[in-house]
Amino acid sequence: MTDSWIAQRTRSFDSSGIRKVFELAGSMESPINLSIGQPDYDVPEPARAACIEAIEAGKNSYALTQGMPVLREKLQARLDQQYGHADRRVFVSSGTSGGLVLALLSMVNPGDEVIIFDPYFVMYESLTRLVGGVPVLISTYPDFQIPLDKVAKAITDKTKLILVNSPANPTGTVASTEVLQSLAQLAQQHNVALVSDEIYSQFCFDGPFVSPAEFNERTIVIDGFSKNYAMTGWRLGFVHGPAEIIDTMIKVQQYTFVCAPQPAQWAGAVAIDLDIQQQIEAYRKKRDMIVAGLSDLYEIANPNGAFYVFPKAPWGTATEFVKTAIEHNLLVIPGNVFSRQDTHFRISYAASDEVLQRGIEVLRKIARR
Ligand code: PMP
Repeated sequence: MTDSWIAQRTRSFDSSGIRKVFELAGSMESPINLSIGQPDYDVPEPARAACIEAIEAGKNSYALTQGMPVLREKLQARLDQQYGHADRRVFVSSGTSGGLVLALLSMVNPGDEVIIFDPYFVMYESLTRLVGGVPVLISTYPDFQIPLDKVAKAITDKTKLILVNSPANPTGTVASTEVLQSLAQLAQQHNVALVSDEIYSQFCFDGPFVSPAEFNERTIVIDGFSKNYAMTGWRLGFVHGPAEIIDTMIKVQQYTFVCAPQPAQWAGAVAIDLDIQQQIEAYRKKRDMIVAGLSDLYEIANPNGAFYVFPKAPWGTATEFVKTAIEHNLLVIPGNVFSRQDTHFRISYAASDEVLQRGIEVLRKIARR
């Protein structure tokens, strides 16, 4: 029995929710797919060229664990200019996911509590359990804004870390400057680490992006190239924060991921100087198209960023509603994959306008049972 070989730590979570959705999707023929968490555009050409050039030039060996100077120094210079924090250091990680894994491995002791806002990016809860932490979920329904009073009440002497994600997956909600500032101060007052997942920072449609690191020098920021430069398969991210935390994360990276792929780092150094305003503008229009196409029939709260909206299912549970959507050849994700609640569903509008239009038509048709 190989069953006894499976470590206990893997048993505290499962992949059944999302697996069920993809099993259903497997039986669909060319579905209208609004479930995908990556842009529908390709990696910008100069970044693709830089990656090919790096490979052809033989830059294929292990990278330095902390990242190649070509990228790391550029990132450090930008952060120094942006924040001017004396103790802020950066390293290159294997995707934002790699950064999250290292952050939790480096900071969370077994039994430590991690505050997570529900709905949340799927990885947060499982990863917390994987490292032996205790997820403390705080509901943000119905407007998906961070409820500061509930955060203050949830902090105990076991609280180690607060995970914040703005713009957020799966809700598309952007936290206000005031809320981020108060959250940053709250974390500081209680000596709790604040980890900010900023992977969607460039996808802010109704105002400039604000990081809680502006208000709390010890904020640990996790960012990456997957979404803005469409490099999901290249596994490139970066983390910045207090030097001691970053050094610890680099040490753990050395014995786990080893490094981020070297050719991708040369490409990343080119990508960060590219202007992607056109792509962002196109996504703003997609957001407008979805909201205009659905808001008379669906309740959609604060869809200000990322490339998701998280409407309330107009009838039934989200799982029941999504089953009907799938019967109409439309693939969206039920909210219970990201939440304790099964009341909402996620639409990704990272799709062509034509596919979006077809999705809107189906959703209008099935809005009433
Ligand atoms: N954080 C959030 C909020 C995400 O939505 C995603 C990707 N879906 C990630 C992290 C992981 O991104 P990466 O490809 O950089 O690992």
